[in-house]
Amino acid sequence: MRPFVYERPTSVSVAIAMASHVDARHVAPTQANTQFIAGGTNLADYMKLGVAQPERLLDLNNLAEPALRQIRVTDDTIRFGALVRMGEAADNNDVRHRCPLLADSLKFAASGQLRNMASLAGNVLQRTRCEYFRETSWPCNKRDPGSGCAAMEGVNRQHAVLGTSDACIATYHGDFAQALIALDAVVEVEGRHGPRKIPFARLHRLPGDTPDIETDLAADEVIVAIDVPLEAWSRRSRYLKIRDRESYAFALASAAVALDMDGDTVRQARIALGGVATVPWRARAAEAALQGKVMEEDVAEKAADAAFADAKPREHNAFKVPLGKRTLVRALIETRDMKV
Ligand code: SF4
Repeated sequence: MRPFVYERPTSVSVAIAMASHVDARHVAPTQANTQFIAGGTNLADYMKLGVAQPERLLDLNNLAEPALRQIRVTDDTIRFGALVRMGEAADNNDVRHRCPLLADSLKFAASGQLRNMASLAGNVLQRTRCEYFRETSWPCNKRDPGSGCAAMEGVNRQHAVLGTSDACIATYHGDFAQALIALDAVVEVEGRHGPRKIPFARLHRLPGDTPDIETDLAADEVIVAIDVPLEAWSRRSRYLKIRDRESYAFALASAAVALDMDGDTVRQARIALGGVATVPWRARAAEAALQGKVMEEDVAEKAADAAFADAKPREHNAFKVPLGKRTLVRALIETRDMKV
């Protein structure tokens, strides 16, 4: 690991001032010389591997604002402070009761030790675990723009089938983000140019020609909170995660589902897919296919077909298309059958 300067700002405004420099709005946060760290479960790992090489780390754990560590549940919103730990949010009774999808997506992620360390904001900003990204001897457009993509012709079993580009096919591996995008969450950000709100669906960027630019954030912007609206579909919601082993593994396919039902008829559906796409993936075509329909297995199957209509499988990951469809069908039927 390269030497770096370590500092502990005491407020959000101080952290932003310390991170602000001439290029902060034009350089991707992951490429900036100064970077924020909270739980460190992803960034420290990549610093050890030489994938991330910041010269200066600003540790956010000393920030004084209490709201950063609080979960506030009102009649119409769950508001997560950015520094709330994943384990704390997963175990929160109000979160579990009012929106099981949120709690499940956290509970099935990582290990207990990591969930106790990792912050919610850091979790949604986690970087891909593409094997070629992690090993610096391989060409990788995300780590080293313009160098190529070793995964295209390499072992790509773990890679994405949705949202890919000719430059990158890396999977976004997070789980919590799938719940947030399904539930129309909004991210609150503060930066040198003031606060702003970003719909979660616009936080992550498709790889396109610039897979090294992963989010809409500037290098001097800090996530301070994540708001999740509570709607008619929040209680009837769940997260189904399919993986190689039943704990401490990333999803091969997952489905975040929330349903507003009138008897057996779907008023509205909210669906996101994990383990199969380059970014948190909202399945709007599947949602439209369900609206106004009686939720039976054949209807769920048609929605799953719609969800994967644009899939582009490669040599080793073609299995993710049928697996992803079966995962979504099962999640839809199990969500329909929830007692709420
Ligand atoms: Fe890099 Fe993306 Fe290719 Fe993986 S898939 S090697 S992250 S460019």
